[in-house]
Amino acid sequence: MEEYKVPGEIFERAFEKFGEDRQRQKPIEEMAELIQAIVKHNLFPGEFKYRQQVELEIADVLNTIDQIKWDLALSDRDINILRKEAIDRFEAKHL
Ligand SMILES: [Mg+2]
Repeated sequence: MEEYKVPGEIFERAFEKFGEDRQRQKPIEEMAELIQAIVKHNLFPGEFKYRQQVELEIADVLNTIDQIKWDLALSDRDINILRKEAIDRFEAKHL
């Protein structure tokens, strides 16, 4: 399966149903859940359930990142350029 992108229409409906304030909290909550899952996985690296939890929380975070991009009308193209530039700087400086 190629990279999934949440349809903007889903976010339109979610904002309408739950309100933009509540919906804009979701990415923060999901990122906190991912942090928690990574901490648990680091504490118990052999436990498959924590590895699965990291995977699940990454999915949630990626979905809410799609929401941020939709909400702020950010461009995937521009973000990809910034990602590449950041990695190029990292490589030049540290590798
Ligand atoms: Mg979650």
